[in-house]
Amino acid sequence: MNGRPDPLAALAERHRRRAELGLARALSPLAWLDATRVRRNGRELLCAAGNDYLGLAADPALRAAFSAAAAARAGSSASPLVCGHGEAPHELALALAEWLGYPRVLLFASGYQCALAVIPALIGRGGLCLLDRLCHASLIDGARLSGARLLRYRHGDPEHARSLLAAHPGQPALIVSDAVFSMDGDEAPLAALAALAAEEGALLLIDDAHGLGVLGPEGRGSVAAAGLSAREVPLLIGTFGKAFGLCGAFLAGPEAVIEALLSEARGLIYSTAPPPALAEALRAALALVRAGDARRAHLERLIARFRAGAEALSIPLLPSRTPIQPVLIGDTSRALAVSARLEARGFLVPAIRPPTVPSGTARLRVSLSAAHRSEEVDALLAALAESLAEREAEV
Ligand SMILES: *Cc1c(COP(=O)(O)O)cnc(C)c1O
Repeated sequence: MNGRPDPLAALAERHRRRAELGLARALSPLAWLDATRVRRNGRELLCAAGNDYLGLAADPALRAAFSAAAAARAGSSASPLVCGHGEAPHELALALAEWLGYPRVLLFASGYQCALAVIPALIGRGGLCLLDRLCHASLIDGARLSGARLLRYRHGDPEHARSLLAAHPGQPALIVSDAVFSMDGDEAPLAALAALAAEEGALLLIDDAHGLGVLGPEGRGSVAAAGLSAREVPLLIGTFGKAFGLCGAFLAGPEAVIEALLSEARGLIYSTAPPPALAEALRAALALVRAGDARRAHLERLIARFRAGAEALSIPLLPSRTPIQPVLIGDTSRALAVSARLEARGFLVPAIRPPTVPSGTARLRVSLSAAHRSEEVDALLAALAESLAEREAEV
C-alpha cells in the first residue's frame, strides 16, 4: 500500500449516499410503439416525458429523409473542419440563418457541446459570466470551462444581474440565460436582459432549446415571440433535440463571431461531425416546423386544457404557458412515488430531482406534444389526481 486514497472507493461512497437519499439515477430501456406510446417493463405507457413538442420525432417525412440519405452514406468520416462538413449541413445552416434572421449559423453535434465550445470563446479569465440561477447545466459547465468569474443572478431577475455587474465594474461580461427554463417551463425576460446588456456593454447569449419551433411566428422561437431580433439578442443557441424531433444544435450570431469560432470552438474542431443523413432529416424538420402552425395551435389547446383541468383538480402547477408543465411536489421520495403510481396507471412522467432542480423542489415534469390527443390529456389529468391523492392518504 502506498497510502493513496482509492478514487473508485470515493466514487462508490458518493453513489451509496445518493442512493440512500433517493437521488441515484438509473437507465431503463423502452421501446417506442408510435409517436407517444412506449413499452417499458412489459407495460404500455403514454409518454408525457419527452421534448418532442411538435410530434416530429416519428414523422414520416423525417424518417423518409433520414433513410434516403442514410442509404447513400452512413458516416461523416471527420470533424467538420477536415472533411465532415457536407452540402446538407451547409444548406441547413444557410436555411436556419435565413429563417431566424441572423447573419450566420454554426452547427454543433449537441446543445451541450455547443455551450461548452461557445462560452469559453466569448469570455475568459478576467471576465464575468452572469447566469440565471436556473440555467441549464450545459450553460453552467460552459461558463465554468471559460475560466470567467461565474455570478448567478436570481431567477428571472435582471435587476439582480444589474447589481452584480455594478459590483464588478470595468470587466468584460457575458450574460447567459435559457429563454424557456427546461424544468420550469417559464420564460426569461428577454427584452429586459437585452436592455441590460446594451446599457452595461455586456454580451448576451440566449439558449432557446425549448422555445424554438414552439413559440413565435413560424416557430422562430422566444426571441421572435418577444418582438426581438438579432439586433437585441446577437447570440442565440438553438437545439434540434426538442421541437425538431432529432438531435444536434447551432449557434446563430454575427459573421465575425462565427468565423473566429471556427478556430476556437474546440468542441467543433476536435469532434466528428454527425452523419450526413441527420442534416437531411433536419432540413425536412425545418420545413415542417416553419409550416407547423396547425401543430402549434393544437399544442396550445392541449396546454390550455391541461392547465384548466389541473386547476379544477387542484393539481399544483408552476406558471408556464409552454409545453413544459411541471407538477410541484417538493419532497424527492414523494415525487418518485407519485411517478411510480402514474406508471402503474399507464403514464410515463419522470420525477425530476436535485441536483437537476433546487433541493426541496422535486417535481413531476409533464411535457405535452402536438402528437397527444385531448382525451389523452384528460386521462393524464385523472391519473395525476388519483396518484397524488393516493400518496396523500398513505402518509
Ligand atoms: C436540452 C437542452 C440543452 C442540451 O441540448 P442537447 O442537444 O440535448 O445536448 C441545452 N440547453 C437547454 C436549455 C436544454 O434544455
